[in-house]
Amino acid sequence: MPYFFVGGGNPARAVGKGGENVFVVTIDQDKCVGCGECAAACPAKILSLVDGKAEVTGEECMGCQSCMMMCPTEAIVVQEY
Ligand code: SF4
Ligand code: SF4
Repeated sequence: MPYFFVGGGNPARAVGKGGENVFVVTIDQDKCVGCGECAAACPAKILSLVDGKAEVTGEECMGCQSCMMMCPTEAIVVQEY
């Protein structure tokens, strides 16, 4: 099953295929304070700060939820499908 990627926008979303699982990362940019903790924590390096807000800039989410756990404002949600 191919994954697809939608960068930017609000909320910013990406769908990543990690093994057998598909993950959707959603970032509410109204809640994001631009601290960069999510990008620093992401082992897949798919999160970046763009104009002071976190965006999904890569595709292959592993579904580890590190970004979600590190975010101080609960701006990121990672869901598995
Ligand atoms: S769930 Fe893990 S791999 Fe996916 S964006 Fe968050 S930190 Fe990165
Ligand atoms: S950890 Fe949360 S508040 Fe900080 S840059 Fe990432 S999404 Fe924004």
